[in-house]
Amino acid sequence: EAHKETLDFKAEVSQVLDLVIRSLYSNKEIFLRELISNASDAAEKLRFEALSDDGLYEGDSQLRIRVEVDREAGTLTVSDNGIGLARQEVIDTIGSIASSGTRRFVEALSGDQAKDSQLIGQFGVGFYSAFIVADKVTLVSRRAGLGSEHGVRWESDGRGTFSLETVEKAGRGTDVILHLKEDETEFLDAWRLRGIIGKFSDHLALPVEMRKERFDEGEQQEPEPAVEYEQVNRGTALWMRNKSDITEEEYHDFYKHVAHDFEAPLAYAHNRVEGTNEYTTLLFVPKRAPWDLWERDPKHGVKLYVRRVFIMDEADKLLPHYLRFVKGVVDSDDLPLNVSREILQHNRKIDTIRQANTKRVLGLLESLAKDDPETYHTFWDEFGRVLKEGPAEDFANRERIAGLLRFATTHSDGDAQRESLDGYLERMKDGQDKVYYITADSPAAARHSPHLEVFRKKGIEVLLLSDRVDEWLVSHLNDYKGKSLQSVAKGDLDLGDLADEQEKEHKEKAAAEHGTLLERLKNSLGERVEAVKPSTRLVDSPACLVVGEHEMSAHLARVLKAVGQ
Ligand code: ADP
Ligand code: MG
Repeated sequence: EAHKETLDFKAEVSQVLDLVIRSLYSNKEIFLRELISNASDAAEKLRFEALSDDGLYEGDSQLRIRVEVDREAGTLTVSDNGIGLARQEVIDTIGSIASSGTRRFVEALSGDQAKDSQLIGQFGVGFYSAFIVADKVTLVSRRAGLGSEHGVRWESDGRGTFSLETVEKAGRGTDVILHLKEDETEFLDAWRLRGIIGKFSDHLALPVEMRKERFDEGEQQEPEPAVEYEQVNRGTALWMRNKSDITEEEYHDFYKHVAHDFEAPLAYAHNRVEGTNEYTTLLFVPKRAPWDLWERDPKHGVKLYVRRVFIMDEADKLLPHYLRFVKGVVDSDDLPLNVSREILQHNRKIDTIRQANTKRVLGLLESLAKDDPETYHTFWDEFGRVLKEGPAEDFANRERIAGLLRFATTHSDGDAQRESLDGYLERMKDGQDKVYYITADSPAAARHSPHLEVFRKKGIEVLLLSDRVDEWLVSHLNDYKGKSLQSVAKGDLDLGDLADEQEKEHKEKAAAEHGTLLERLKNSLGERVEAVKPSTRLVDSPACLVVGEHEMSAHLARVLKAVGQ
């Protein structure tokens, strides 16, 4: 029964639409990239599902995307023969605001237009971008494997409601029909469209076709020749092409496609590995942290392909967790096409790829830090806290990761994390054999701690650690290039050769002279302290609390308490 219903958008949808249209208008042709990108995703989903059920191809495994215009009707249509959508899927993905990216976007809206337009780039607004150029959008879809009577027709003007109707649809897949606004007729021009498709879709491993232009229209041929299509994009997966043939701009466009980002990446590495394990990798470091960086399962990480067939997206097997900000593609020649998550879990080839990827990304970051420190700082401010998880997770690469870390220290003012451990080592005083650090709740609390007094007096640099992850970091990073890391708030502060004779004498004398005072203090504090000792770590303050060498630091104790441990 072809019942037609009209449903309301979730309130936020019109809000998002308004914003999308306003902020992307100056770059309006991106709607075509978004629609083609969705069509390509749909083809990949079908290919993947068909690995276990090739009946889904319904006898037609030539996947392709078509872009057509109808000048008289003023419409532009993007069609695919990919996986298609069932009725409920249309409601869930297109009709409501189900896509988590869009939902997050709405949550992040501040009401300040300028700020909000900046935000939009981070979320990827996909399908809704059609409304930049269209005042009405019709989507007709049928899911692969369902009968032709299970087609769905969705239509909306983007103003709060949409209609939904069950229709016949012979071919599987999705047609998105844009009823162009009156002043957007430039998108009816085939040459203009070919230009845009070339720019945005050359790297897709899927043909994008348009009608062959007929130059004989005046001659009234009888009968009407059948419609012929020709491929207008290159249709070769970008990562399979020679590095020397790929322009910077092509890399950037490809990145925007895989990462669902609107901005160019910060850096990338493209490599082909030959030998017993053959594969190609193309990895990108984004410019900005995505909203889901701290979620359990971030979307759009490194995609795994096997011989150009997309296998899975959240391939967390291809890089360690602390490099989860990296986006891109790994294409293996050797893995079986029907690899499952379980197989990936214990696969030697995958392990090798993961190790090589890790080294490659660390190498990429090292060159960035060396050749372009400014850009590296941008990277650090976005992803530094993630990289700090590295020494705990990846013992083998601990020292390399440590070399990439940046800290606020007493060497310079301000909270920005700019100093490296190598820089610290260079500035160490004669006789200093440790890297000193302090952990605190905030940069200000760290910098003004009484524990720093003696270090300031002696001109010894101290790392100021106040990120949540820092305790975790220092509990796994015990040394760097042979120098141990030492908390200034723990144990007997042994400044080694740095303590002068006078101080040692002073300390001994204090213990002897004030023995009774120390004992009385200990008695009255009772169980609450382990010992009361004279110290040389203070210059201006009369007393401070110190934690035993092997005890949990006060800061960590507070963090654990806050999370209910
Ligand atoms: P995203 O692509 O980031 O998920 P979009 O707004 O572009 O966000 O698309 C939302 C969802 O709509 C997609 O995730 C997909 O489920 C569905 N969709 C959109 N276009 C198509 C299509 N051509 N074929 C199948 N599903 C589609
Ligand atoms: Mg999309």
